[in-house]
Amino acid sequence: MKRVVVFPYILSKSFAAVTIFPFIILKRKESKDDFVLINHEKIHIRQQLELLWLPFFIWFAMEYFIRLLQYRNFYLAYKNISFEREAYDREHEIDYLNRRKAYSFLKYIFSS
Ligand SMILES: [Zn+2]
Repeated sequence: MKRVVVFPYILSKSFAAVTIFPFIILKRKESKDDFVLINHEKIHIRQQLELLWLPFFIWFAMEYFIRLLQYRNFYLAYKNISFEREAYDREHEIDYLNRRKAYSFLKYIFSS
């Protein structure tokens, strides 16, 4: 995959990857073979395209702060952002992106 890049310096200890369309940025090059991680990040690529990129990041940040008020815990706030709920819930499914309906992250806003 051409758009997967390895850049160990910008990611904090807790994150193995970050996705900013069209790039999936990995902390470790071994992660290129980690299907679940790559699938997770590809779900974020799809979400970013659906929201025409910039609004994805604005939404992500706004929902993060709302979740922070809700959970009062940085990690739980991040894990419960609707984009992350969808990605963590579906990252193990090989064919998920083939059958996923557009804007599926919306279903995860009110689920827990
Ligand atoms: Zn994620």
